Amino acid sequence: MSVKLFSAVKKYSHPRASLSFYLCLLLGHHLSVSMSTGSVAKLLLVDLSGTLHVGNLATRGAVEALDWVRSRGVAVKFLTNTTKESKRDIYERLVKIGFKVDMSDILTSVSVAIDEVKRRGLKPLLITEDSVEREFNEFYPELKNGDRDSVVVGLVPDKFNYTVLNEAFRLLKSNQNAPIIAIHKGKYYQTEDGLSLGPGPFVVALEFASGREATICGKPNQNIFLQALGQYAPEEAIMFGDDVTDDIQGAQRAGIRGCLVRTGKYRPGDENKIEPAPAFVFENFAEAVRGIFNKTGIAS
Ligand SMILES: [Mg+2]
Repeated sequence: MSVKLFSAVKKYSHPRASLSFYLCLLLGHHLSVSMSTGSVAKLLLVDLSGTLHVGNLATRGAVEALDWVRSRGVAVKFLTNTTKESKRDIYERLVKIGFKVDMSDILTSVSVAIDEVKRRGLKPLLITEDSVEREFNEFYPELKNGDRDSVVVGLVPDKFNYTVLNEAFRLLKSNQNAPIIAIHKGKYYQTEDGLSLGPGPFVVALEFASGREATICGKPNQNIFLQALGQYAPEEAIMFGDDVTDDIQGAQRAGIRGCLVRTGKYRPGDENKIEPAPAFVFENFAEAVRGIFNKTGIAS
């Protein structure tokens, strides 16, 4: 492109124009390209499972793409709907895979749920994995004392049985003000042996039986997106994810452009399932970074 520009300038400018004149033009061209790529987005919101990695493997080129985009001064935050792993578990897994991340840049539906419970001064019955219970106790020690006055539902396959759900139902029935807090309401998620039920169907069971609507903390609820934006305006950010509803539609409803990636739980035709359609669709996270930021040379 620079050679073409040089030829064009040479063709249309005075023959005695100095080399420095051409260099200035080329530098100006370079700066304008840098500025235009920099203005595509100032903040990337990135889903983890299915987008940056599947299990313990990074998606193709994701480690390099993340490094590159950060080196351009673009801020990155990670948004995950996990209900099984604590923030520390997630951080350690990402570092082990090879990603350079800061724990404070990870926003989980669990951390949003803890903030919600603290803000409302609730003492919930926790239907969650032990690691999540430890995180609640670490960041909200007052939780241990007092009668249970609400229910928090995460994803805990071993505890989703009649006895546990009935205990939650009885609590909700005995206290008409007791809220249901859903860490998220995902219908299903990708596991190593296929798609598996998420916490959503169990949240719906409690909503149905109690006649109460749950407060949802994770994606696609807008709270998690707005919290992640911080100082940035929605139009300055792009959300990358493999879940067309939770990641993309959720973000777009918060005014953030969505970029669907065809990895993880993506299935053919997902991009046609929401209105408006995703702002961008790419094969994977690295391709998306390359396409959106007009970058060449990221391994794919
Ligand atoms: Mg995902």
